[in-house]
Amino acid sequence: MKMNRFARSTAATLWAVLLLFPIFNFASVGQARQPVRHVRPSGAPPTRTNREIRKMLANIEQAKIERTIRKLVSFGTRNSLSDQNNPQRGIGAASEWLYGEFVKVSQNSGGRMTVEKQTFEQGKAPRIPEPVQMTNIIATLKGTMPDSANRYYVVSGHYDSMCTSPTDAKCDAPGANDDASGTAAVLEMARVMAAHKFDATIVFMTVPGEEQGLLGSTHFAEEAKKQKLDIEAMFTNDIIGSSVGGNGVRDRKSIRVFSEGVQSNETPEEAVARRGVGGENDSTSRQLSRFIKETAARYVPDFSVSMVYRRDRYLRGGDHIPFLERGYPAVRFTEPNENYNHQHQNVRIEGGVQYGDLPEFVDFGYIAQVARVNAASLACLALAPTAPKSVAIVNKRLTNDTDLQWAANPEMDLAGYEVVWRDTTSPVWTNSLWVGNVNNFTMKKMSKDNYFFGVRAVDRDGNRSLVAYPKPVR
Ligand SMILES: [Zn+2]
Repeated sequence: MKMNRFARSTAATLWAVLLLFPIFNFASVGQARQPVRHVRPSGAPPTRTNREIRKMLANIEQAKIERTIRKLVSFGTRNSLSDQNNPQRGIGAASEWLYGEFVKVSQNSGGRMTVEKQTFEQGKAPRIPEPVQMTNIIATLKGTMPDSANRYYVVSGHYDSMCTSPTDAKCDAPGANDDASGTAAVLEMARVMAAHKFDATIVFMTVPGEEQGLLGSTHFAEEAKKQKLDIEAMFTNDIIGSSVGGNGVRDRKSIRVFSEGVQSNETPEEAVARRGVGGENDSTSRQLSRFIKETAARYVPDFSVSMVYRRDRYLRGGDHIPFLERGYPAVRFTEPNENYNHQHQNVRIEGGVQYGDLPEFVDFGYIAQVARVNAASLACLALAPTAPKSVAIVNKRLTNDTDLQWAANPEMDLAGYEVVWRDTTSPVWTNSLWVGNVNNFTMKKMSKDNYFFGVRAVDRDGNRSLVAYPKPVR
């Protein structure tokens, strides 16, 4: 086809626009800023919704969760000081039953899941009048990629319970919500995930001693630290059972995820840097809660994660804290509105009000949804590369560019890296830029003073790691 000069030059302009367009990246900004131009290397593997994960989530059964909770309640009490040897009543019977259930689900794993009783003697403590034996039940689903198998993700619930007094070992303490709900969710996740292969290792854990001072979880976290275990995330599921609060609010469509903003193990030097340039909203646990929120939006539509910017609720603590204190990223899952008539209460009717943590106040379908959010997040984490290490913003010069650097990831299937950023007032990462398989990158004309930046690794299947927040280095 013949074109006149005008048509030719118009076509050339059009082509130029079409070719140039993808290399412009307009930072989404509230404040007026210049559009930022980046060279965008080709080959960013797209984020996909994994069909295998979807199938796994569809297999999570409300009925199985209900059965586990009713069975745990049937032991009468699971107080950590209750009977260890009675086959019907007390924490010993509950622990044996749980062990047997995890062994059953491990049989579906092709030998990749092993189940272990981590028993230890707990000495006297404020809520331990005499030394007592405690047993963590730990099911480990070994990762299948040699360069990732030593990377761990831990999901936990506590199987002990209490009535009004934490040291009353005789009273009925059904603990249907606190925390048979979390325990049942962990067992159900182990059941549906056992048959699947993940690059990294997932630990499904149920622990006692939470009500006695986070004892089971502290023991595990301390042993992990001694063995220098690389735990990249820990989830505790504690009181995830009710969709109706004591305030009468009914919410079946959200879960709170609590994360600390400033790391419990922050050093004085890190505190100085943070006071200088910020970062109090960018702990590893906060990145974890962002990852969970994004993953839930992708895999559990019609259900949302409410990030809560605090380590835990007022007057309360949980099994994630011993992990945080040892430098491991950890978050807490808890229902949106609690009902204190059904926590830590002797079972009784008073003034026409039913007190006690009974199964009739638990919403099994709701727990299944929370388990899906957990399972999707664990699966995405364990399929993805590790978060980049030694991520830094280089501060050698006063400049309106941002110089980022990081260490190379070890994975064989690594495709490269993305730089992510957001306005300093934004709760979540809003932008990302594929930078290819490099270990430093300069964000031209984007000042580190105006944004928060992060780096994440991407594998060839498009699995994205947790975001690593850079430290300032000279
Ligand atoms: Zn609890």
